Amino acid sequence: MTFSRRDFVKTSVLGAVAAGAHAAVPDALAKTNAPHQAEAGHASQADSSKRPIIICANNGYAYVEAAYAFLKGGGDTLEAGVRVVKGPEDDPKDDSVGLGGLPNEEGVVELDSCCMHGPTRRAGSVGGVRNIKNVSLAAKAVMEHTGHVMLVGEGAERFAVTMGLPRENLLTERSRKIWLLWKEFNSDRDWWGPGLADPHWHPPAPDAKPQANLLQDRIEKLQRRAAGLGIEPEFRLAAIRRVLFPPSGTIHCSVLNEKGEMSGITTTSGLAFKLPGRCGDSPIIGAGCYTDQDVGSAGATGAGEENIKVAGAHTIVENMRHGMSPKEAGMDALKRIVRNYNGDMNRLRYMDMTYYVLRKDGAYAGVCLWEGYSVGHPHKFAVHDGTLRSEVATPLLKGYSQDWPPMPIVPEDLKKDSEYLK
Ligand code: ASP
Repeated sequence: MTFSRRDFVKTSVLGAVAAGAHAAVPDALAKTNAPHQAEAGHASQADSSKRPIIICANNGYAYVEAAYAFLKGGGDTLEAGVRVVKGPEDDPKDDSVGLGGLPNEEGVVELDSCCMHGPTRRAGSVGGVRNIKNVSLAAKAVMEHTGHVMLVGEGAERFAVTMGLPRENLLTERSRKIWLLWKEFNSDRDWWGPGLADPHWHPPAPDAKPQANLLQDRIEKLQRRAAGLGIEPEFRLAAIRRVLFPPSGTIHCSVLNEKGEMSGITTTSGLAFKLPGRCGDSPIIGAGCYTDQDVGSAGATGAGEENIKVAGAHTIVENMRHGMSPKEAGMDALKRIVRNYNGDMNRLRYMDMTYYVLRKDGAYAGVCLWEGYSVGHPHKFAVHDGTLRSEVATPLLKGYSQDWPPMPIVPEDLKKDSEYLK
């Protein structure tokens, strides 16, 4: 994507109008102050009951075919799951997982992962791990080589090294520059960023300016700083987006083989620019991932803090144990999140959650709180049960989640950034 400054300003202003109209969807919900079930009509949620089957977050799509062949050939279910999630972990361009993941507020990448192996009913997890790219392997090694279930921080890193995983710098140049852009942009009250001696320094804009102009000023400042930091022009918009709305992202994968064995695994770099030491749901057995060999497997991507509070993956598996379909089970967990906010759409609009649900008989579902990020960008998940495809997850609520932190007007071109929405 190439974008001149003039184009950017022009489309931002035009986009703002469109964004205003689009934002009316959650507003309408807010008035009712109650959850609304989105209409049916979305694809998927099959009772395919085909085995073997793999389901995962859509960022694993490219790695599912090979993992499926491995599974078909008699490979272990957890090993197949690792083959999927290791793809994004190794990919420096996926800045939500593993190498190249966006760092914490101090510029250090910290990763989380957990897994469950159904046939042997074991679990492993690592949280807040630095310098180790494949934390999925570290979580699996905790399960296989220790009497523990969870290791965190420095201890987890040292353990991973003893297991043969290499220490490496996980901060790519791209992620480092985005972090620096974030740091400098948010730092007009400390010593980060160019100081008074900088030729471009000017006093802060007066508060009296209209909100839309203030945002435009901020975006233009970000454009200048991004150029100064050497962020490639074609990636600048995506970088700015990440600075204005710190993203998250994760991969979960659940696997079922022909014999009915199941496993699940989740791995992430968590929330961008988080506080050092913050663990989300991804390393929490029962939240980011849960597998019960008798029932099914589930996992999550999205607002980790919210998912921890409803023990999402465990809740879903228990719901299926008590007779709910994968879709009903996932929807119920989403409703618990809505309940935690008493259905207040003015808060719920700023969070999102996707659950990946697989029952022991091969029935599956992908469900999400909101339809997606914006019109034309629904939440998707990947499925392989003999045919590899992406399916649209079924939303609980009509409309689209809004970015955090809130902004009165979000330029449409920032919302549509395809790099971010991959
Ligand atoms: N659930 C992850 C976390 O909270 C982030 C995400 O899936 O987007 O760390």
